[in-house]
Amino acid sequence: MQPVTTLRGWLDHLAQHDRLAIIRREVALRHELAAISKRLDGRYATFFPRPGGHPMPVVSGLLGDRRWIADAMGVAGDAVLRHFSAAAANPLPWREVASGPAQDVVHEHVDLAQQLPIPTHNELDSGPYVSAGLMISRNPRNGRQNVSIHRCQVSGPDEFGVLLLPRHTNAYFEMAERDNAPLPVAIVIGMDPLTMLASQAIVPLDHDELEIAGALHGTPLEVVKCGTSEVRVPAQAEIVLEGRVLPGRRAPEGPFGEFPQYYGERADRHIVKIDRITHRRDAIFHTIVGGANEHLLLGAIPREATIRGLLQRSFPCVQDVHLSMGGVGRYVLYVRLRHQQPGEARNVIFGAFAAHYDVKHVIVVDDDVDIHDPREVEWAVTTRAQADRDLIVASHTQGSKLDPSADHGIGAKMGIDATVPHDAPPGKFTRIRVPGEEAVDPAQVIDAAAAGDWRRAQSA
Ligand code: MN
Repeated sequence: MQPVTTLRGWLDHLAQHDRLAIIRREVALRHELAAISKRLDGRYATFFPRPGGHPMPVVSGLLGDRRWIADAMGVAGDAVLRHFSAAAANPLPWREVASGPAQDVVHEHVDLAQQLPIPTHNELDSGPYVSAGLMISRNPRNGRQNVSIHRCQVSGPDEFGVLLLPRHTNAYFEMAERDNAPLPVAIVIGMDPLTMLASQAIVPLDHDELEIAGALHGTPLEVVKCGTSEVRVPAQAEIVLEGRVLPGRRAPEGPFGEFPQYYGERADRHIVKIDRITHRRDAIFHTIVGGANEHLLLGAIPREATIRGLLQRSFPCVQDVHLSMGGVGRYVLYVRLRHQQPGEARNVIFGAFAAHYDVKHVIVVDDDVDIHDPREVEWAVTTRAQADRDLIVASHTQGSKLDPSADHGIGAKMGIDATVPHDAPPGKFTRIRVPGEEAVDPAQVIDAAAAGDWRRAQSA
């Protein structure tokens, strides 16, 4: 298939492949919507036609499985990381157009709770959140744009409390705040999954993630100018919230259920004032349930692509990497090696520690291990590693602030070399194998007519 370029196109694709569940009855925005979406996560994306009686539908679970991402890109399953890296390295500048469906309906007076069906997901969340909004901001000095996702707590009729980690949006905001000026932003809801993925690319400051989205689409992304600022937003977006991050002001935000399956704490955070809302006719609202597969995969795929590229630059033996789902798509890295030099597996572990601060546990395995199957990786650790010989621990390193076992993000990193020792005698690590097992076709060998009637099969 061609790369998907709109949310609507993606919903059509999901429906054609029996991956979209239309939810029948009216559901409550508080907890019930998330409960249904999470229950069906991985199997079905969910479409709620009238959530909480609101006329605007909500969708969730758009990326239930990494195979869905390959479909969205229009590539084979094993080409996803290569394809993403190529797009990040060869961005395609966007193309400005005079108008687009994202601005078909305009609300000059903003009332978030009334105009949008914003759900509350987890038990202890402080309230409703916009969780799938792409925040687009502009460098106040040079006009370059940045795209990232921030959790947005509804704090008032036209106000969000947002978590800005010390990354690119925050860098632009600090430039504005030094002049006591607000930072104009747009929060864009309802994009195709490739633009969502592009927003998570690990690229330097002033690299516009919308250009990576264009490269993934294979065609420049069309953008329109906001009505209240210079910010350019995707013309095909479902919903655009135009606003400003306010200088010199902070207010409590949180707790909120995050990707590690724990709550991000309540603290004083930035405030975004919304000045204007535009949306498509019959707009669709997208929400990401914290900790669901799309939350994990949106972080994992761009990180895997970056880490793989970094490691392969230094270590030609690195074949592939995987951030496991049990490792919340961020913290646990599996690395597959081939023809490594003696000692090189341990060097790869140190390289992986340094590749991204979120990486916490690294397991390196040989080429015969399927790193997308946690059972295979566990088998390699079980049969090829000895703790006193193959374990590496690095103390007091930077990790994720959302890891509750770390001390404000400071903690230990652990590496396990689960490759076959170089001095192993021949045959000691030969994997057992039944000849012909892979070639067996169940449909060819099972006598369906016998229907499990073993007594008749015995007497016949
Ligand atoms: Mn950025």
